[in-house]
Amino acid sequence: FLTLGVPVTLGTIGITGWFLGGLAMQPTRRAYEQLQRFTADASHELRAPVAAVLSNAQVALMPPQDESEQRFRLEKIEEIAKSMSTLISNLLFLARHEGPFDITTFKNINLVELMRSLVDEYQKQAVAKNLNFIPYLPEQPLYLKADADLLRQAVGNLLTNAFKYTPSGGTVKLRIFPRGYRAVIQVEDNGIGIPAEDLPHIFERFYRVDTVRSRQTGGFGLGLAIAQQIIQAHGGQITANSVLEQGSIFEIQFPRVDK
Ligand code: ADP
Repeated sequence: FLTLGVPVTLGTIGITGWFLGGLAMQPTRRAYEQLQRFTADASHELRAPVAAVLSNAQVALMPPQDESEQRFRLEKIEEIAKSMSTLISNLLFLARHEGPFDITTFKNINLVELMRSLVDEYQKQAVAKNLNFIPYLPEQPLYLKADADLLRQAVGNLLTNAFKYTPSGGTVKLRIFPRGYRAVIQVEDNGIGIPAEDLPHIFERFYRVDTVRSRQTGGFGLGLAIAQQIIQAHGGQITANSVLEQGSIFEIQFPRVDK
């Protein structure tokens, strides 16, 4: 029994040791792999716009050159530089908020009031894009423990998408309402929709449904990843439902607090 017991015990220790070692190693390795993928993806995303800036600059510098062609190239460069600047801000945001958020800075805020200011901003964009933007805000306040700027950014990203992926003449609805001890935010559009096979991936970083369509709208596939990161930091959840060519509904749920 003794001779049998020793290897068994050693074996158990060995397995336990390996198991614990595996547990300790895995998050580090995963974090490293994520960082590597993130860096590779980010570099890849920056490569195309930088190449486009270079080629436009080269054409603009080629003699002889008429003024309108030169202006066209410079405007292209300006447009690409603006979208690169957005990409870099988003990358910095994700890098900075990689770890847990500092929830000690979160305050009790009235979601309805915060959304009212966002509505004003998006109402102007709706007019410019010929979209109907219909907000449904409740009379009573809904309190959350939150960072107002982050929350505004998360919901803003959903509204930006709804506006981006809904053709002219379409409708975007923003609904805020209580559901038990939760506050719900819904952003609904009757735009182009998302294919069922893409739906599970849209919250992944750099994921875009199809490159041609995304290139047309100039996105980088980071808006939803950022929104999800913010919402989860607030103890909330985000889900998406969509029917291709009919529209999409994004829903956020947050735990409510007493004032
Ligand atoms: P992007 O900057 O490309 O819009 P997001 O992370 O915000 O990146 O969204 C990821 C992808 O999900 C988009 O490229 C788009 O294909 C799809 N998507 C997001 N919101 C909508 C929507 N409201 N309607 C249709 N497609 C959407």
